[in-house]
Amino acid sequence: MALDPQTLLFSMLLAVLLTAGACLLAWLQDRRQPAMLWMASACALGTAGIIARTALPSLPAITLGNAVILAALGLLWTACRSLRNLPPRPALIILPALLWLLFLAIPGFATNIDLRIVLACIASLIPIALAARELWHIERPATLIRLALLALLALQCALTFVRITNSLVFHHFPTPTYLAMPGFALVMIDAFAFMLLFSFGMIALVKEHSEQRLRDAAHIDSLTGISNRGEFEESLQRHFLRARKSRRSLSLVMIDVDDFKAYNDSYGHPAGDRCLRAIAQALATSCRPSDLVGRYGGEEFAVLLPDTDRRTAFSVAERMRQRVRALALDHPRLPGTKATISLGAASLVPWLGEATPEDLVRMADRALYLAKETGRNRTCQAPDEPGTSPRPFTPTAPLPLRLDEPGSA
Ligand code: GH3
Ligand code: MG
Ligand code: MG
Repeated sequence: MALDPQTLLFSMLLAVLLTAGACLLAWLQDRRQPAMLWMASACALGTAGIIARTALPSLPAITLGNAVILAALGLLWTACRSLRNLPPRPALIILPALLWLLFLAIPGFATNIDLRIVLACIASLIPIALAARELWHIERPATLIRLALLALLALQCALTFVRITNSLVFHHFPTPTYLAMPGFALVMIDAFAFMLLFSFGMIALVKEHSEQRLRDAAHIDSLTGISNRGEFEESLQRHFLRARKSRRSLSLVMIDVDDFKAYNDSYGHPAGDRCLRAIAQALATSCRPSDLVGRYGGEEFAVLLPDTDRRTAFSVAERMRQRVRALALDHPRLPGTKATISLGAASLVPWLGEATPEDLVRMADRALYLAKETGRNRTCQAPDEPGTSPRPFTPTAPLPLRLDEPGSA
């Protein structure tokens, strides 16, 4: 059956316009994610470019049509950028179109159909390669959807190279209209199939990111990026049961930032928030990936250490204290002092005795209060059995009078 170019073009334009509508709907459902708005604009602009390209057989139509199509590819790249929360770069969006217009201004270039095809193809490779770069660098595990989109971009690059080679090897003759161009149907099918598949792939990827964000919001503390209180409670119950089954010990370190009210009062709450974020990062980097570092409340943190005995728990707690001290965050309490934390560590072998997860929290909490009462910037450790009062940690060297003096660990 002969393929009527007009019908082919019309049905494909309609399909891309409908896809632009689908992207717009996806954006209206979740406006925090602008990628869908950029994709809708890319589809709409691409359609406008094809219409401009086919409406007139003259050179101005070719010039304008291709420039608009190249700008549409720039928007497609911008959509990929916004998935990484990066802002649009207008100069780079229009760069391929500008290159195209610049070269067409060179005498003899515009009238040579082969040179035009090669130039348009090379210019289109710029946003395609940039889009692939953005998708590659997304800070999330590579999912099947992302890999499929990357494969699609790679395929489009390969087809573009085929077109370039074809134009360099075989000489084309100017045709009165775009529709009468040899290989028109193939070029159209490739362009539209790419746009449709890429748009639907992006819709799926954005949906996947939204779901991931919701999952994160349920488990992650929005200020510090570490686990939230709910995640900590859940992990405590889970690790307690696991430790009871495997007859291994479980440790918990409760942490409180020293004199944090004074920090807020002196530097303001935004600076206080930055301080909490830095401390959370220092705590997280002091532990194994299997440990759980959570924000327990305001300026309090809890670190759950599975398969960890009292001795190791104490040394981990001390490492965390020293890492926070090493951040050297200025503290207003005394001139030249640095922000510090107090820690209470407790350990249990849940298999022995009738202790509950709440007992472990209570023991660590009491040890923390003791650390506060005995001068702050120190770790105290609870005794083995729940229900008895914690023993203060006795350092081998006497503690300095001023714990937060510059240079003291
Ligand atoms: P201590 O050494 O005894 O723990 O003294 P403190 O000043 O740290 O303790 P206090 O309980 O008096 O003050 C805690 C402060 O933590 C008060 C509150 O404004 C601040 N805080 C709690 N949550 C946040 C937060 O999310 N951001 C900021 N910037 N401050 C917070
Ligand atoms: Mg507190
Ligand atoms: Mg405090």
